[in-house]
Amino acid sequence: FSDICIELWRGLNQLNGRFNMESALDIIANKRDGNQLSRDEIHYFIDGVVAGNFPDYQASALLMAILLNGMSDEETIHLTTAMLQSGRVVELPEITRPKVDKHSTGGVGDKVSLILAPLAASAGLCVPMMSGRGLGHTGGTLDKLQAIPGFSVYLDDHNYRKQLSSIHQAMIGQSEDMVPADRILYALRDVTSTVESIPLICSSILSKKMAEGIDALVLDVKSGSGAFMKTEAQARELAGALVRIGTGMGKPTSAILTRMDQPLGNAVGNALEVAEVIDCLKGQGPQDLMEVTFALVEEMLRLGGLVKSGTDSRGMLKALIADGSALRAFAELIEAQGGDPAVVEKSALLPTATTIEKLHYDGETSGFVAGIDALLVGESARLLGAGRMSLDSAIDPAVGVVLHKKTGDSVAKNDLLAEIHCSGASNSEFAVSKLRAAFTFSEEPVSVPEVLIDQLS
Ligand code: URA
Repeated sequence: FSDICIELWRGLNQLNGRFNMESALDIIANKRDGNQLSRDEIHYFIDGVVAGNFPDYQASALLMAILLNGMSDEETIHLTTAMLQSGRVVELPEITRPKVDKHSTGGVGDKVSLILAPLAASAGLCVPMMSGRGLGHTGGTLDKLQAIPGFSVYLDDHNYRKQLSSIHQAMIGQSEDMVPADRILYALRDVTSTVESIPLICSSILSKKMAEGIDALVLDVKSGSGAFMKTEAQARELAGALVRIGTGMGKPTSAILTRMDQPLGNAVGNALEVAEVIDCLKGQGPQDLMEVTFALVEEMLRLGGLVKSGTDSRGMLKALIADGSALRAFAELIEAQGGDPAVVEKSALLPTATTIEKLHYDGETSGFVAGIDALLVGESARLLGAGRMSLDSAIDPAVGVVLHKKTGDSVAKNDLLAEIHCSGASNSEFAVSKLRAAFTFSEEPVSVPEVLIDQLS
């Protein structure tokens, strides 16, 4: 009898496999032919991918069909919802403050999250932030936080909630049980040239952010050489889609378009960026970095319902920095997550490089910095060890680049352009030549475009 049962079970499984195979084929063919997929088809496919019912080649074929033929907003909302529901979705009913987060599409020197979370928490919001690691030449929030001695980016659900209730901010990595569909699909997109698709990017970003239990979301969509979206038109298209899909899923969502032609702020590299964050929270931050941070926090406060218009809060945010509240909130965050809060007063406690090389301006005539290619600076920092060359490479938290001149600044012979913080193992020769190539100069004064391009809501 047990043999019969086993045979029956095998037969059913085979039938189930055939059914899955045919349904997957239909769905792929539908998208290949430019048709709109239904809610049921999308959910069926995503559930099947996560359950391991469809082989990678079928999931990849659908991804390519989506990249080539696009998706309507309705389809993208179904895709985002299916991905969101593929794992655990956090709910935070016990938090009474508005829960608002920020997501950046990624850039070079983008340490905004580390300034923004304590500042927004000091201003009355709750910031339940789950972030990622560096990708390619761009830095990642988790890698920056881990440059702080002892800081843990892993909190269990109980401690995460406890921390949000007590200090109104947490900065952690997403746990394995959240949005498993994105982990599978993102890995496939990475190796099938299907990353650059607006519906796939929207569903990937928004499913992860919506799983945090937020009430509203502000996006920093970057454009320029150091960004995912190289042109303003592409960034605008992505920002528009993110706002429509987020809002369509019932969460107030806005986007701020910002420039990523040159690095944001002066420091690129994990511990160096944390040191710059501390300067910012002490009121000594570079203008472009503070401009982007203030604009994003203002919009978070507006979406959270704490102010009527974004610009109403600029004075309050500056006061929270001037009176030390935001810096204290950063120290509280560090302490709550196991780090040494003394770093906010003594940045020498952060990891430091063994050698600092200097890049000088060697032109004969005085002039101006015409541009600093963010992509080349990011690649230079990655070569030094600030980012990963492969999935499992280790990060050196101490290394990176500090810019002493930015676009528009005047330069004369022998002026210091940048410092290169290296370790013994750093590939400093290549890093320095990439950094040199990042700088372009002009004999005429250069006008610097505003770092904020536009806002969409
Ligand atoms: N960041 C993400 O999380 N997903 C994408 O698809 C692109 C950028």
